[in-house]
Amino acid sequence: MIPYGKQSISQLDIDSVVEVMRSGLLTQGAVVPEFESRISNYCASLYAVSTNNATSALHLACLALGVAPGDIVWTSPITFVASANCAKYCGASIDFVDVEPNTGLMSVASLEEKLLLAAKRGSLPKVIIPVHYSGQSCDMVKISLLATKYGIKVIEDASHALGATYLGSKIGSCKYSDVCIFSFHPVKMITTAEGGMALTNNEVIAKIIRKLKNHGIVQNSAIAPWYYEQQELGFNYRMPDLLAALGISQLQQLDTFLIKRRQAADYYYKNIDSEKLETIYQHEYGESSYHLFPILLKNSQLRLELYDLFLAHGIKCQVHYIPVYKQPHYNQAGSDHYSGSESFYQRELSIPIFVDITAENLKTIIKLLNSF
Ligand SMILES: *Cc1c(COP(=O)(O)O)cnc(C)c1O
Repeated sequence: MIPYGKQSISQLDIDSVVEVMRSGLLTQGAVVPEFESRISNYCASLYAVSTNNATSALHLACLALGVAPGDIVWTSPITFVASANCAKYCGASIDFVDVEPNTGLMSVASLEEKLLLAAKRGSLPKVIIPVHYSGQSCDMVKISLLATKYGIKVIEDASHALGATYLGSKIGSCKYSDVCIFSFHPVKMITTAEGGMALTNNEVIAKIIRKLKNHGIVQNSAIAPWYYEQQELGFNYRMPDLLAALGISQLQQLDTFLIKRRQAADYYYKNIDSEKLETIYQHEYGESSYHLFPILLKNSQLRLELYDLFLAHGIKCQVHYIPVYKQPHYNQAGSDHYSGSESFYQRELSIPIFVDITAENLKTIIKLLNSF
């Protein structure tokens, strides 16, 4: 079965993990800080704090920005549920900003319109969480200008977008946001099995996230070198050294991973008959990391037929995503009708893209697509 996405594990990765297994320290040694500093160097942010997954990082980022009961957080409906759940963990309520129907990215026009209305009604969000869907950046200059105008904080959910660029900078530089989150789940750009990271240029935010991921405990060496005191109620959201070792060796291969994903994407662009089949629009302002390769069918019936055709040939595509407000838990939450999200959801199918996808795999997929 060819999946829509999967990890690429080399001997370098195996050796890197085994070395930590033999070192005596499996967690909270020198490897985690090394991984954090390599990620912040790669992305050119001042701070990077690792967590046990991106969901935890999103939760702590919300807490660090002061999200509390009574607050409102806005995100995209076309995302993994964690982008919305993080606000609910803090007791806040969640609402959605519609997406561009041809990219699945938060629509700046919808955001502007919704902000204007919310300002009049006194129901502005405290935080907005744009999602760099499929590995393509949202238009962060415009989003951050609007956020500044209305006094709102910005968390980038960049779970898909490690290695992607926006206006010449790597996603994670936090030039246009308060915090940026990456996921290292196996289907994402690099993996630590489970893992996440919060990047920021704000020292106070970094310190809060670091404290909260470790039970709210910090060292108070003014009292004694062994004096670790719990200052508030935090969590155990730590990444172990064992997994950070995998992260380091994966990060060393990221640029190769990106080249291979872009080669696969180029092959699709060259060979998909664009008269018959739409791919998502790529904005000129940056370069995608191609975590996903979404195509857009004319309607949901055709999408289902194509999904079944692929499955019959041993290829497992996936729909990204069911809009969050349609999830039973959310039960039509959100205050608007989201025409962009509805259309995107009806039409989208993610076809396989991953580092080790073979030329033969790609050929088979193109043959099926163009015969459809
Ligand atoms: C994968 C993903 C997450 C959650 O990542 P975990 O590391 O599995 O917690 C959050 N947001 C988006 C958009 C994702 O794709």
